[in-house]
Amino acid sequence: MPLTLQSSYLTSGFTWLRGNLHAHTNFTDGAFSPEEVIALYEKQGYDFLAISDHDKLVPPTEYQSLTQMVLIPADEVTANGPHLLGVQIKEVIEPATNRQQAVDAITTQGGFAILNHPNWRQEFNHWPQELMQSLNGYGGIEIYNGVIEREPGSSLALDRWDRLLSSGRRVWGYAHDDFHAAIDLARGWNVVQAAERSVWAICNALRQGQFYASTGVEITQVQVAGNSIAITAPDAQRIRFVGEWGKEILYANENYAHYEVTGAEGSYIRVECYGAGIKAAWTQPIYLNTE
Ligand SMILES: [Zn+2]
Ligand SMILES: [Zn+2]
Repeated sequence: MPLTLQSSYLTSGFTWLRGNLHAHTNFTDGAFSPEEVIALYEKQGYDFLAISDHDKLVPPTEYQSLTQMVLIPADEVTANGPHLLGVQIKEVIEPATNRQQAVDAITTQGGFAILNHPNWRQEFNHWPQELMQSLNGYGGIEIYNGVIEREPGSSLALDRWDRLLSSGRRVWGYAHDDFHAAIDLARGWNVVQAAERSVWAICNALRQGQFYASTGVEITQVQVAGNSIAITAPDAQRIRFVGEWGKEILYANENYAHYEVTGAEGSYIRVECYGAGIKAAWTQPIYLNTE
C-alpha cells in the first residue's frame, strides 16, 4: 500500500517566532495591568502575545505602540461552560452555554478556537471527552496549561489529544501560560514558523500547524522526506516518537532522532522532546495517508 506523510511544517521561507496566546490582566482576575503584562513578556524576549481575558476583549490597538511584540486580539470564553480561547477575533464572544455556538461565533468573526485546560479540577475533566468529540470547527486544544501547575488537575492533556487524534480528529496542540500572576510567566509557549512578523502570518501558522508547543525545549528542525521523519532538538536529552492511541514507537537518548515510517503506526505520528527536569517540546502530528 503506498504511504504518504502529510507534514504541516515548512522547510524554508520562515522565521521561528515564540509567543503565548493565554494571559489575563487585572481587567478580570489577573494580578497585573495590560501594560505590566506586556512589559513582563517583552522582557522574556517573546515575539507575540495575546491577552485573552475572561469574556473580555482587551483591544491590542490600544497597546501595540508600547511593544515590539505582535499583539493578537483574543478572549477566553468563560461563563456558562468549559473555557475556550477565541483568537484573532474582532469583538468579545458571547459565552453561549451551547459551546458549539461559541466556536461558531469565533469562526464567523474570522478567528479560531482553542479548548482550554481539558484536565483541570479534581475530576481532571474540565472538558468531557465526549463534548470535545462532539464539537466541530475548533483549531485545537491546550496540551499544556501553566496555571494548572498550581491548581487541582493536570497541566498536561496529551492523553486527551491522542484520543481526539486517534478517533480521526485533526486538531493542533498548544502550550500556554494562562498567565494570572508572576509565577505563571514563561511556563508554556508556541514557536511558529512565520512568513513575517504580523498578526496575519503568526495566526496563519498557528491555524496550519506550523508550530510546536514547548515548556523549555527548542526544536530546530522537523524534516519529513519520503517515509522518514527526523527531529533536531539541541537541548533535548530524550526524543520519543508516538503513534496512534499514544503508543511509543521510538525512544532515543539523543538530541536528534530519525524514524522510518512503516505504516503500522496508525493514522498519525507525533514527537515529544524531553530536556532537563520537566522541560519538553511537542511537535504537531504528522498524518499518515495510505491509499
Ligand atoms: Zn480558563
Ligand atoms: Zn485563562
